[in-house]
Order: sequence, then structure tokens, then C-alpha cells
Amino acid sequence: MTNNIPYDEIISIQRKANIVDIIRDYVPLVQKGKNYFGICPFHDDHNPSMSVSTDKQIYKCFVCGNSGNVFNFVMEYEKISFMQAVKIVAEKTGIDIDIKTDNKTYIDNTYHRLYDIYDIAYKFYQNNLNTTYGKAAKKYLTDRQIDDSIIKEFNIGLSPNDSELYNILNKKGFTDNEIIESAICYKSSNNMYDIYKNRIMFPLYNLQGQVIGFSGRVYDKASENKYINTKETKIFKKGELLYNYHNAKALARKEKSIIIVEGFMDVIRLWSIGIKNVVATMGTAVTKFQANLINKMAPNIILMFDGDEAGNKATQSYLENFGNNMDNIKIVRLEDNLDPDEYILQKGKDKMLYHLSHPINVYDYKLNSLKENIDFSNGKDISNYINLMIPEIEKVDDDIVRDIEITKLSNLTNVDKEIIKSKIKTNTNKEIKYKEKRNVKSNKYEKASKYILYRMIHDTNMILYYFDNLSYLPDELDRKLANEIVLYYKKFNSFNINDFVIYLEAKKDLINLIINIDDLNYTKEELEDSIDNYFNVIKESLYNNQINKLTNQLKNETNEIKRKEIAQQIVEIKMKESK
Ligand SMILES: [Zn+2]
Repeated sequence: MTNNIPYDEIISIQRKANIVDIIRDYVPLVQKGKNYFGICPFHDDHNPSMSVSTDKQIYKCFVCGNSGNVFNFVMEYEKISFMQAVKIVAEKTGIDIDIKTDNKTYIDNTYHRLYDIYDIAYKFYQNNLNTTYGKAAKKYLTDRQIDDSIIKEFNIGLSPNDSELYNILNKKGFTDNEIIESAICYKSSNNMYDIYKNRIMFPLYNLQGQVIGFSGRVYDKASENKYINTKETKIFKKGELLYNYHNAKALARKEKSIIIVEGFMDVIRLWSIGIKNVVATMGTAVTKFQANLINKMAPNIILMFDGDEAGNKATQSYLENFGNNMDNIKIVRLEDNLDPDEYILQKGKDKMLYHLSHPINVYDYKLNSLKENIDFSNGKDISNYINLMIPEIEKVDDDIVRDIEITKLSNLTNVDKEIIKSKIKTNTNKEIKYKEKRNVKSNKYEKASKYILYRMIHDTNMILYYFDNLSYLPDELDRKLANEIVLYYKKFNSFNINDFVIYLEAKKDLINLIINIDDLNYTKEELEDSIDNYFNVIKESLYNNQINKLTNQLKNETNEIKRKEIAQQIVEIKMKESK
């Protein structure tokens, strides 16, 4: 256990919280009988597959198998640590946790010196902008329609032309190594220098809203490097952040929509015209980490990358890599190769608002972007084009939408609708694939394992009985779970599944397993079976494994003496077994 919040306190938070109330904050739930159902946020779900049980205080998805208690849900949904999730649940339940509740406790403290450096730096830069020295920079910003409210909101600043920041950090007791590690200064022939000289400084933030880097822009001269970005440090990893995430998160959830742009200037400009549910990927190659974050921010995503060819490629690549759930992604393509910042400056706020209220769907986007290389007088070209679009149509679940898309394709190509339809495979349900994957035929050994675990969960006598008489299960995860149950029981001298799942914290494979086992339906008669019968099945598997292994060894062994040894071992195991 982490020592942030004591285990018994977490248990009491869970007892006071109602999982249905908490999950409802994230996902709409509908009551059916004793349980509640909602769309699972952890897989590409179209029908409510996630059930939430008030009795058991757990959630479980019948399709992807994700399950756990209220903390696991919040943790996975918000992509935060277990302890952060405990804190959120406590707050939502109105519990004052009687421990250090200042934010710092919950933020990774390992690199606090680096965070401190950035905290000092951005305040210093910001202050600079308001001095006489900052007048030219301020004018530049005003000319670009960046007013004081924007400067304040995004903490924009100015770096001086000397190494004053280094001197300040030095005086505050930071070592040269720490300062170099922060990537804010560098060392050359034994002297330390500021990296950013006379640039307008845009702070970059981590997901919690702490400053962890900068983008410095030239403003008073032409320069090859219009922007200098902080290089990656221990706290600044470009692929793991989204610019403006901390500000946009709550709003995106409320508005059920998040806009994705490439650059931080796009975010700032959109903010200035009142569009605030927006984040920037800080480049064209979106990482899996970023895509996961985006998916969890809001159910609807609008991709508005730059209007140039690179932005088009970025859109295509996003759809290819992360666009499985087509229904929820819409696209805005801006004319004249402009990025959103330039677009607003050149074409005005209203045109941008029009675009944002008329985004196109993925199908239409592909219909348009693939069409460009097609010669519509060439039959082969048309056939290729239709074949490229068929898989896109197959992804559409809604029959009506599907029919509309087929009509569009038919009109565009002058190919009969029925011919196009005949090429479309009936939608193989994605959910069936999941189920097949999970329901690998279970053999008698697996069945026996699950039964033994079930009995251990429901009868503490079985825990020690297992420990004394078997202490082995063939499947590694089953075995791990059994071990954890034994350890837990020995430590606390009691066992109940709710408290145990809390104890497992973030060990999701074990949590999913135990919740599944707990849901197995055994008849009363089955539960009266002697556990020894099941132990014997497992012992048989152990026995078979050993014999198989030795028989194989025997087959491959050429040394006569070693062959005899192996044969002897086989005889001994068989003797022991027949006793
Ligand atoms: Zn699911």
C-alpha cells in the first residue's frame, strides 16, 4: 500500500461513497432492476455493456471485461493514480480526508526542484513583459491581437537579452546541474547562460497545469528559428501532454465535445473568440497516449489540424491509427492552407464559428480526400475508389447513415446502389470478436482453478486449506490471485471481496479476474462438493505436466546415464501418484 491515505480510511471512503452516483458524473446510467447500465467508456461501445451493481459496489463491462470498484473507475477514466482517484471520490462524496490535502501531496514529488525552477522562470518572464524593456514585445503582441486578458490567461512573458534568469536561480540555491537538467540554461566554457534570449515566452503545461517547458518566439527580427521549444526533460515529455488540457478538461466534458488543433497559438486564438474546449497536440504526429487522453475528454471529437497538406496527412493518420469509433469524430478542414490562428486573423471569427458548427463526418472526409486522385472517366479508377470506400461503409453501424453514405457513393460514381450494396459484408459485430477472444475454451483444469478460487473468496477456511494442501494453480494469473488472497488473509485475519479489491489498488488484471470469478454461478449442490476433488484435478495437471516434461527430455537425451536418471524420475513420480 502507498502510505498517502491509510488503508482503513480508504475502506471507509468506499463504504460512504455510492458507486452509482460517482459513475453517473462521467457516464449516463439507466436503472434496470437492481443494477444500472451505461455505455462502457473503456472500449468502443455502442450498446450499454457496462453494469454497475449497488449491492456489490462494483462496475463490470460484459464485453471488454473491464471491472473494479469506484476508485478503479475514476482512476481509469481520468487517467490518474489510485490515490488521486481516492481523493476525488472522497471530495465528490463530501468527505474531508483528514490528511495532507494540499495538492502537492498528490503530484509526483520526485522532480519538485525542476517544477520549482519553472515556477520561478515563468513568473520572471511574465514580469519582464511589463517593464520598459518589454514595450516592443508588448506592441508586437497587441498588433497580433493578443491583449492583456490573453497574456494573463496563458501566462505569456518575455525573456531578457542577458542571463538574468540564471543569476536568480543561482541566488535561490539551485545548483548548476539542476539548472542544466531543467533545460532552461546551458553551460559553455565553464559559464552558465540562459537559453532563451529576447523571445516572447509561451509556457507549456503538464496535465495538472504546472509549467514544465516553454516555446519562445522571436518578435523583433527575422530568424530561422521562429520558435524554440524546451527540449525533453524528466518532466517535459512532448508525447505525454496536450496543451491546455488542464483548462479544457471540465468544459469539454460539460459540452461533450473537444476540438483538437496542432499548435498552442491555435488554442490561444480560439480562446480569444470564446472557444475554450480545445487542446493542441503540439505537432502532427499524435501519440497513442495523447489519443487515449482525447478519447476520455469528451464523447465527440473535432479534428481541426492545419489547412495545409501536412495537416491533411495528420488528419488521415489520426483516423487510421485512432479512428475506430468513427461516429464520434468529425473533421474541419480550413481553406487556403491556413492554420486556425491565421484563419481567425484573416477571415474572422464568424467564418471560424461556421466551420466549427458544420464539421464533416469521417466518411465524407474520406470520400473527398480519396476522390482527388481518381479519374472518373476510367472504369478501373472508379472500381478502385469504390473498393477503398467499402471498408469505411462497413464500419458504420447505423443502418440509415449507412444507406445515406451508399447513396452518396452511388451518385458520385454513377454506379448502381445495389451493386455497391452487394459488395458490403454484413457488419461483423465487433463485440462478438471481443467475446470470442475472452471465451477461450476452458479445460477442466481451468474450471477447477476457478472453482477453488470461488470457494476461497466465499469461505475463509478454504484459504488456509488451499495454502496447506495445494498452494498451486496451473494458470499464472490464477496462482497470483490465490497467493494474494492467502497473503491478505494472513495479514488481516479476515477476508471480504470489497476490501480486498481496494487492497489490490491498481492491479487491474487481478481485479478483473476476481470480479469475474465472483460472478460465476454455481448451484447449491456444486458448492457442497468436496474441495479435495478439485485439488486432485489440479494435482493431476501438475503430475501430467511433470511426466510430459520428463518424457520429452527422455526422447531427446542421447547420453545413456542421463536417460536412466530421467527414467528413474518418471518411475518415482508414477509410484508416488499411485500410492
Ligand atoms: Zn467495455
